[in-house]
Amino acid sequence: MNYHIVTYGCQMNVHESEKIAAILQEKGYTTPVDTDEDADIIVFNTCCIRENAENHAFGNIGNLKKLKRRKKGLIVAVGGCMAQEAGKAQLLREKFPFIDIIFGTHNVGELSSLIDALRERRKKQVSILDARKETEDGITPVRTSYPNAWVNITYGCNNFCTYCIVPYVRGRERSRSAEVILKEVEGLVKEGYKEITLLGQNVNSYNSDGQGGMSFPELLDRCAQIEGKFRLRFMTSHPKDFTRELALVMRKHEKICNLLHLPVQAGSDRILSLMNRRYTREKYLGELKMLRELIPGCAVTTDLIVGFPTETEEEFEETLSLVKEANFASAFTFVYSPRTGTKAAEMEGRIPEDVSKDRIMRLVEAVNENTREMSKEYVGKVTEILCEDYDEKKGLYLGRSEEGRMGYFTSEKNLIGEFVNLKIDRANGISLYGTIV
Ligand code: SF4
Repeated sequence: MNYHIVTYGCQMNVHESEKIAAILQEKGYTTPVDTDEDADIIVFNTCCIRENAENHAFGNIGNLKKLKRRKKGLIVAVGGCMAQEAGKAQLLREKFPFIDIIFGTHNVGELSSLIDALRERRKKQVSILDARKETEDGITPVRTSYPNAWVNITYGCNNFCTYCIVPYVRGRERSRSAEVILKEVEGLVKEGYKEITLLGQNVNSYNSDGQGGMSFPELLDRCAQIEGKFRLRFMTSHPKDFTRELALVMRKHEKICNLLHLPVQAGSDRILSLMNRRYTREKYLGELKMLRELIPGCAVTTDLIVGFPTETEEEFEETLSLVKEANFASAFTFVYSPRTGTKAAEMEGRIPEDVSKDRIMRLVEAVNENTREMSKEYVGKVTEILCEDYDEKKGLYLGRSEEGRMGYFTSEKNLIGEFVNLKIDRANGISLYGTIV
């Protein structure tokens, strides 16, 4: 039997879908497919962090109405943070009565018994838990991104940034035990994975609940001591918790990539305070200075939001000037979108859509200009790329440098999973094109 998992949102969700795939395989759905028509079960792993992702999911679920009527026995399940959001399960049931199973972020592991219950009782199943304390669900994910593998180190978040729904739908921060994480990383290296990313909403506060057994810098240090040729990455770091100790661990090990994803969100102290980010522009820039003194050439990427309630033109320009000052290698840029239940959604001073649109365009241009300039510096130099995939359209292999630049090249041999040295011939935006040397 076939399964189709539709994933929205961040890397966390992509990894969560790998766990959902494991559950489906254990239930007899052995073959992943890319289209709804070919599937015997369709699982939507939703995201509610941004309005766009939510609207997209609603649209896609709605599109299944006819197929569901036509294809007897097709199971439709909806999980993830949208299903977890207050009142959303009820709304989903009313809007799409054909959904068979609804489950939340705290009970992914329960999907197996929900499928059994549906099969046995032929009754729709809804199960949303309010919170979850345990961090281990006993599921071994079906990894789909060789040579890359993701490892959760924490779940949930305690930070309550005023625009963000994550603490409400993912719960308070819980750390997995360091021993379990180290064992998982070791196992992945033995299996041949070449790039391992430690995942958490705020990796720097790992062990804040005392359940990890060591701090994040210690954990990273221990991971980097595991034998074998592989790369280590981690995300996401919160600037309020980023420390010199962590930067020193990054410098100590070649295996840890010279790339830090450090979301700043805005360049104005007033907006940062309204966002409850708990750092200032000066503190943020000070951290980058410290990092670059310790690790010259370390790339920094970020997340930026424009159009936060009451943001003035001058404050937006502070974000623009920060982009220049911080010299970001790249950035994810977003227009603020209110999420029901968050503090910011209650704030007055919404920014008109046309103003936000104008700001995002100017911001994207500033980020791209920086990225283009930085890409030029690679031309003529040799950089190590981990080959990750083959681009059918371009007829080229591709992979990333440790700073996260995408490198494209030709090869007669399949090199996926291998490290190659690429002499960069030309750069186009964030992409590099080169020849193996
Ligand atoms: S740190 Fe802030 S933005 Fe990130 S998940 Fe937690 S609340 Fe959301």
